[in-house]
Amino acid sequence: MITVVKFGGSSVASSGQFAKVKNIIEKDQKRKIVVVSAPGKRRKEDNKITDMLYLLSSHVKYGINADHLINEIVERYEEIKRELNLGVDVKREFEIIMENAKNGAGEEYVVSRGEYLCAKLMSAYLGYSFVDAAEVVKFNYDGTLNEELTAEAVKSKFEELGAIVVPGFYGAYPSGEIKLFSRGGSDVTGSLMAMAVNAEKYENWTDVSGMLVADPRIVENPARIEEVTYEELRELSYMGASVLHEESVFPVRELNIPIYVLNTNKPDEAGTKICRSSDINDKFVTGIAGKKNFKAITITKVVSADKLVVISDVLSVFKKFGVKIEHIHTSVDSFTILVNGKDMEKNVFDVLSDIKSVKGVIAVDVDNDLALVAVVGRNMRLKPGISARIFSIFGKNNINIKTIAQGTKEINIIVGVQNADFEKAIRAVYNEVI
Ligand code: ASP
Repeated sequence: MITVVKFGGSSVASSGQFAKVKNIIEKDQKRKIVVVSAPGKRRKEDNKITDMLYLLSSHVKYGINADHLINEIVERYEEIKRELNLGVDVKREFEIIMENAKNGAGEEYVVSRGEYLCAKLMSAYLGYSFVDAAEVVKFNYDGTLNEELTAEAVKSKFEELGAIVVPGFYGAYPSGEIKLFSRGGSDVTGSLMAMAVNAEKYENWTDVSGMLVADPRIVENPARIEEVTYEELRELSYMGASVLHEESVFPVRELNIPIYVLNTNKPDEAGTKICRSSDINDKFVTGIAGKKNFKAITITKVVSADKLVVISDVLSVFKKFGVKIEHIHTSVDSFTILVNGKDMEKNVFDVLSDIKSVKGVIAVDVDNDLALVAVVGRNMRLKPGISARIFSIFGKNNINIKTIAQGTKEINIIVGVQNADFEKAIRAVYNEVI
């Protein structure tokens, strides 16, 4: 059985962090596939390598001298190399990167070198073979991932080499050109590796001991989530809880491979287990998340107009502008569409004016002051009285509820409040139910 381990940027930020990684790997023989991010911050004021590489790429693009940046980046890797006495020629590697960049290799290539170089150093340090993600993480030309080809390639490399280090965050098109995942995408690489070898588990090592029930910037010292299901995690991350990349669940979900979120700096702490189902059912709320600045757009139609036709015409306006819809509430002659304010920032006037011109629409009202609080829990399903309990918390704390939504799977209750009540609402729910 194999355990895939992924280490985030702060876990590989310095030689000291590399040493912690090695200790973790050596504690368990099953940890045979290692995925690394690019070195992150060593301290608060530090720069992340990935951010510096984005900057470097713009310098190259506009022909601006980038010597200071190159020196800073190279020195980050040189320092790790020096302190751990590794035989990787960082300077030569970077010369090649710069040659390729000047010859038009593009931003995704330049940025991907952060994880590439980190994996080179890590493989030398652990004595595991280096496998370039460009050879095993395969994208189609339309930018979608080819899971089948990826699985085959990973499996054959792993069978050939036995213990490997793979850079996270990128793969390649069939032409070999580099393609990045979105930011934080090394989590997805780890998940793909776990899927490919049908791993026993996927450990995601970071700098926090698992996921917390609520955002620690809002709730003081929130409890840790012991176990969360894939479904719950999806709801929580969609509503703003950020520990893992949103897409890292998909590859492992089918095969029911559990993900563990663990802390490189406190490796003995339990962390959070993400799995298909859980026997822990003493609490009905698993997590609380939420986001501010939604818009509620209420569309009123003439009585004689067919509601289905009006809704479908209005939805096509959102489709035209590529604006995602969060929820739709309908009543007799009106319906309300909730969208994330950010998704409509650029084209709000165009969207509203197109909606106004839909046949049968007589009024469009917009409420810009809406925050959504999502209370998520697998144990809410099929239990009467849960929503009453949650809503009473809002009433008791004098928080006005603007809108309510519950998915039919009954694992989340979403409550809309005014932006100013957002933090208060999260604290109130946390204090009552946890
Ligand atoms: N290094 C990339 C980022 O900062 C990818 C990752 O760390 O997962 O987003």
